[in-house]
Amino acid sequence: MKVRDWVKNLVTYEAGKPIAHAAGEIGMTADEIVKLASNENSLGSSPLAVAALKENINTFYRYPDGSNYDLIGKLSDKYSVLPEQIAVGDGSDEIINLIYSAFCQKNDEAIMAFPSFAEYLLIGAVHRVNVLRVPLKEFKTDLDAVKNAINENTKVIFLNSPNNPTGTIIKHDELMEFMKNVPENILVVMDEAYYEYATGKPDFPETIDFIHSFDNFLILRTFSKAYGLAGLRIGYAIGDKEIIDAINHVRQPFNVNKAAQIAAFAALDDTEFLSKVRSMIESGMTYLKSEFKNMGIEYTESYANFLLINLKTDAENISDKLLKKGVIVRSMSGYGLKEFIRVTVGNETENKRFIASLKSVLNEE
Ligand code: PMP
Repeated sequence: MKVRDWVKNLVTYEAGKPIAHAAGEIGMTADEIVKLASNENSLGSSPLAVAALKENINTFYRYPDGSNYDLIGKLSDKYSVLPEQIAVGDGSDEIINLIYSAFCQKNDEAIMAFPSFAEYLLIGAVHRVNVLRVPLKEFKTDLDAVKNAINENTKVIFLNSPNNPTGTIIKHDELMEFMKNVPENILVVMDEAYYEYATGKPDFPETIDFIHSFDNFLILRTFSKAYGLAGLRIGYAIGDKEIIDAINHVRQPFNVNKAAQIAAFAALDDTEFLSKVRSMIESGMTYLKSEFKNMGIEYTESYANFLLINLKTDAENISDKLLKKGVIVRSMSGYGLKEFIRVTVGNETENKRFIASLKSVLNEE
């Protein structure tokens, strides 16, 4: 079998280590591991989602509803948009892939900030799209530089706010100015995977309004983060009917499984869980920041459930040593930030374990 060279050379996404595997390697049990590497939710899944799954456990012999009718109906009420303005995917990862399928062909160009979510780059490569990486400026998306990178081959721009791995945001006026200057034939994707953590905070814009003003603006959100449903894989896009229709044309008929649809539908009502999650992150953030200040460690101003910290030493080495103590974080060396790690804000016990382990590892240096 001759695999094409460009396929062989594709870089695949480096997922966080599975807990059981990491535990086995260092002679610990899974319970002893603190995993703060994938921005998951330490409070677990929305209890309303779990209850709905239990109630529907005997229905999975049926195919899912390929139109996602109930979930889209609920989302359209929530955001006051038409059902035709919403598409649902097997995680927002899938929607990124569908965007490339629908709007790009080989040798087209996309633009992303860098560092930002790696999948824009990796999925783009599968579609043989050239993805330009525009460096962040002071850890923020540099919209002027993004605008200047646009050329006649540009088809899609991926923005991410709060940005993974920095947690920094794009403000309303900057975004408005940017959108006014982007040609209408270029799709601007605003990935808001961490929306539920940022909404309501000072300067974080409600971008739904932008879809009413710009036909080329698409928002991505997910149930993986604040709702705690990462393992079920479900995310959605909100935008102009024409964009949504194009996405629906290139997706599989049953791209979103039934369990994910049921859980997401129930989770949307779980305001109690969401506020518990937000307050856990807020107090965890306060604790971690004060510890970092005491330790002289710099961090970025994050609106999400993670912090990017500068260790001013080989971060890969530190994260390896943390792993040996049962604490998994994400070294950012693959993103060119050799002295940085990204740590997810966990629950109180996890955050304390992380800080104690970090102190001891840094002291050994
Ligand atoms: N966008 C960003 C910015 C992310 O950080 C993530 C999760 N790592 C995703 C999208 C993917 O989310 P999902 O689980 O819905 O595929």
